[in-house]
Amino acid sequence: MDDTRILLAHGNGGRLMRELIADIFARHLGNPLLDTDADAVALPRLDGELMVTTDGFTVQPLEFPGGNLGSLAVHGVVNDLAVAGADPRFFTLSALIEEGLEIEVLDRLIASFAAAARDNGVAVVAGDTKVVRRGEGGGLYLNVAGIGVKRAAAPLAIESATAGDVVLVSGPVGDHGIAVMLAREQFGLSGELRSDSASVLPLAQAVRDLPGLRFMRDPTRGGLATVVHEIARACGHGIVLEQHAVPLRPEVVAVCEMLGYDPYYLACEGRIVAVAEPGTADEILARWKALPQGADAAVIGRIEAGDSRVILETELGGRRVLDELEDDPLPRIC
Ligand code: MG
Repeated sequence: MDDTRILLAHGNGGRLMRELIADIFARHLGNPLLDTDADAVALPRLDGELMVTTDGFTVQPLEFPGGNLGSLAVHGVVNDLAVAGADPRFFTLSALIEEGLEIEVLDRLIASFAAAARDNGVAVVAGDTKVVRRGEGGGLYLNVAGIGVKRAAAPLAIESATAGDVVLVSGPVGDHGIAVMLAREQFGLSGELRSDSASVLPLAQAVRDLPGLRFMRDPTRGGLATVVHEIARACGHGIVLEQHAVPLRPEVVAVCEMLGYDPYYLACEGRIVAVAEPGTADEILARWKALPQGADAAVIGRIEAGDSRVILETELGGRRVLDELEDDPLPRIC
């Protein structure tokens, strides 16, 4: 029996499962609210409007430059709460483990999940593990639900974006997409680029109470272009992005040129796209740039009255339509 890998017996409800939960999940994630014997736990009363979100994580490979499935799962859920104006508090975690996964890898991923949760003030309060047969899972899938408390006074609703508003981004786009792609051996490429996988909570907290802030969203799958399309559709106006203003790392530009990808559609995992009244843009930029993660923040475009098209404007005044994404060029990116 190979005791370095996950067996089907780790999911059968018996001793091996109990030991796996104790040795990995409870050891890393333990906190006074996580009772691995209870069917359900009572949460302390939270003061404020509760917000809830959920997400599944299937990224391949499980570990990539700048992050891994564990930290990515925390960042993904923290970021959805953060851009909605909430502070994250409690998570549930459901782990679907594939038979044959190295136990050492599982341990690293859950340790990384736990560290990221702690960094963001999150306690895992409920969890579940299942083991699926070899070939039926990608090593490990994580499903996370997050509960937070809304702290922003404004609704931060996408419909509040309107003509005349400006669009900002907190940092370079496409890093996660390219970093994960380079980590897939099939491309035969390698590079120094790291995923931007990170919590955007400090960025969101820094600006969420500015009265001129209309809306925030974290661009993930489908990238910047997809979020901008969502804003255009919701407000019924067009959005013009200034190509020279969108922050892009040279490595991302180089790989995109080589492989024919458009960086505006590539996933980010640590950025915010914000819409604000023009008079508030400088304050958002100043607050973001004061944080390490916001050093490259920029105003990248504006909402223009008219039909809800997304236009990319070049420095020379040329314009091209950024169509809505048809098919994800990089599946299993998050
Ligand atoms: Mg999101």
